[in-house]
Amino acid sequence: QRVPVVVVGAGPAGLTVGNILRAAGIDCLVLETETRAFIERRPRAGVIEEWAVRGLERRGLARVLLERAQRHTAFEFRFAGERHRFEYTALTGSHHYIYPQQFLVTDLVREYADVRGGRIRFGVRGVRLRGLESDRPSVSYVCPDSGERRVVQAAFVAGCDGARGVTRAVLPSGRVRTARHDYGVGWLALLAEAPPSSDCVVFGMHPSGVAGHMARSPEVTRYYLQCPPGDDPDNWSHDRIWTQLRRRLAASGARPLVEGRLIEKRVLDMHGYVVEPMVCGRLFLAGDAAHLTAPIAAKGLNLALHDAFLLGDALVAHLSRGDDTGLSGYSAACVAQAWDYQEFSQWLAELYHGTASGDPYRAGAAVARMRRLFTSAVAATAFAEQYLGIRTSG
Ligand code: FAD
Repeated sequence: QRVPVVVVGAGPAGLTVGNILRAAGIDCLVLETETRAFIERRPRAGVIEEWAVRGLERRGLARVLLERAQRHTAFEFRFAGERHRFEYTALTGSHHYIYPQQFLVTDLVREYADVRGGRIRFGVRGVRLRGLESDRPSVSYVCPDSGERRVVQAAFVAGCDGARGVTRAVLPSGRVRTARHDYGVGWLALLAEAPPSSDCVVFGMHPSGVAGHMARSPEVTRYYLQCPPGDDPDNWSHDRIWTQLRRRLAASGARPLVEGRLIEKRVLDMHGYVVEPMVCGRLFLAGDAAHLTAPIAAKGLNLALHDAFLLGDALVAHLSRGDDTGLSGYSAACVAQAWDYQEFSQWLAELYHGTASGDPYRAGAAVARMRRLFTSAVAATAFAEQYLGIRTSG
């Protein structure tokens, strides 16, 4: 079997690349280890930057999102019982969209497979890549039903299989550099069957650790609680969680938190990495396969879409017009953007975690970092721009 492009992974990055190729009439095959039902229900991100939505819209991929997503225009810090509301839309004219990642994945799969006629194999096992530095790379996989190993020849392979995939692992260690950062803290990531308790993202800096609130839909809210790295989620009972959320997010004039059943409870050890370059021969990595940003600044999904737009457009330019400009500049453009978001996540992490660090120097500096946003117009504008991730491309 031969196909111009094999895409490994049906997350936001892989499905966006697939959709861009299909819109240009280019055949491709997407390989995914999970089932369609599973990826359409897997909750993760939900804060999508406006430029990313415009990029999806230009490619015919945002119709449902624009009908259903909420818009967020502000961000609230809580500290020492006070609320500090940061109105970034008033400052910049730009906003965020709130749309659960699984809804976006559902829209992208439907468009790719059901509307644009793209091929996709769910439930595959044992994906292997060969000959990436030749002009005839191949990808093989084990079919879930027959157990038979199939080999597909491709001109290009898009490695979009996330942080735990296989494509990053085939990069020769001598020629790529992986830069890692460990924040030294855990976040208990929670999903509550409860309506949001604020009209915006809220983070409370507290001596017990940071707590976060993010709307996902009118019925579901994501919460975060800082915890020791590697902590066992079973250490966190329903009562302990809601007591800590109420304590860490307490502030005068704040709406009381609406409690609900917890439908997800997992500990994320906060870390990030960037792989450079993101290309090896005919393999192009995109999204979490190439760089992970801890969910501190809600950047990972946005970066995955950034890569996918560039990679999809560059593959179309090469395969339909023989234009190599996009492919040759791909890695440098994506790595620069990834570092920009890593740096912002690191800056915000210190603001969030300083208060609970046990170090009065870090705690004092964290408060100064937050206060500056409310006393300096220049600092406020810079923060708004980084939080919104405003980009002219996409
Ligand atoms: P993924 O979404 O991980 O998709 C990769 C796909 O590849 C998956 O479907 C996987 O099943 C498949 N796969 C894996 N291995 C293989 C293999 N060997 N063969 C074939 N397929 C394979 N980001 C934001 O921007 N905003 C947020 O608010 C935010 N919140 C988050 C909250 C949490 C709790 C988490 C965990 C993440 C959050 N993120 C957020 C990050 C965001 O979810 C990721 O950055 C995003 O999913 C990356 O998309 P991707 O397509 O690169 O990878």
